[in-house]
Amino acid sequence: MLNILVLGGTDEARRLAAALAGRAGTHVVSSLAGRVRDPRLPVGEVHEGGFGGPEGLRAWIGERGIDVVVDATHPFAARMTASAVEATGRAGVPLLILRRPGWQAGPGDDWRWTPSLAAAAELLPGLGERVFLTTGRRSLPVFAGLDDLWFLARSVDPPEPPAPRRLEVLLSRGPFTVEGELALMRDNRIDVLVTKDSGGRMTTAKLSAARELGLPVVVVRRPPAPGGVPAVETVEEALAWLEGAHAG
Ligand code: NAP
Repeated sequence: MLNILVLGGTDEARRLAAALAGRAGTHVVSSLAGRVRDPRLPVGEVHEGGFGGPEGLRAWIGERGIDVVVDATHPFAARMTASAVEATGRAGVPLLILRRPGWQAGPGDDWRWTPSLAAAAELLPGLGERVFLTTGRRSLPVFAGLDDLWFLARSVDPPEPPAPRRLEVLLSRGPFTVEGELALMRDNRIDVLVTKDSGGRMTTAKLSAARELGLPVVVVRRPPAPGGVPAVETVEEALAWLEGAHAG
C-alpha cells in the first residue's frame, strides 16, 4: 500500500486526490489548513488543521506511515511549503511540489509587478481611486491606511479588521466569468485591479476583463519555490511522477 499525503487547499489538490482515490494499492489523505468556513472538500480522507510546524508534520508522517508527500498548496502558502520541505527531509520521505504556472501578461495588458502586498499598496494612489482587491481577506490590513481610496474586496469568508475605511466586501468564490467580471468592474467604476500571481484558470476572468476595460493590474509576485525539490506544474505530471518514481 502506497500512503500519500496531499497538502491541499487548491483545485489541483482536489483533482489529484480524486485521480488517486480509485487506484488499487494507494491510500490518499488530503490536508486543509481549516481556515475556510465551508471548504470544497476533496474526495477521500481529509485532515483539517495544521500539523504544528515542521516537527509536528514529521511526527504525523511517521505515525501515519506516509510514503510520499505532494505539496499541492497555493503558490502563496509559503510557510506550509517550507514546513513540508523540512519535515520530509527529516523523515526521509520524498516530496513533490505541484505548483501551477504563474500568469503572463499578453498584448493589451497593463500589469505592474510588485514584490509584495505592501509594495502593491504603495503603488495604488498613483493608479486610481477605486480599487478592486482580490488578494484574500487576510491581506486587507496592508491596505488599511489608504483613506483616500475606495475598495471593493472580494473574498470567500468575511475579512477581519483592520481594513480600509472606505470598503465594500463581496463574499464570493470562483470560478468567475469574463462577462460577470466586466459587469462588476463597470458597475463599481473600478480604476485598478490588485491580484496575487496565483495562476490557474479559476480566476483569470478578472484579468481578461481588466484588459478589455484598459485598466491597470497590480500583480504581486509569488514567493520563490524552494530549490532542490522535484516540482511539476500539472496534476497529470504529478500522477506520472508518482507512478514512475514511487510505484510502490
Ligand atoms: P501558510 O501561510 O503557508 O501556512 C500557515 C500554516 O497553516 C502552516 O504552517 C500550517 O500550519 C497550516 N497549513 C497551511 N496549509 C495547510 C494544509 N494544506 N494542510 C494543513 N495545514 C496547513 O498558508 P496560507 O497561505 O495561510 O494558506 C492556507 C491554505 O489555503 C493552504 O492550504 C493553501 O493551499 C490555501 N490557499 C491559500 C491561498 C493564498 O493566497 N495564500 C489562496 C488559496 C488557497 P502548521 O505549521 O501548524 O502545520
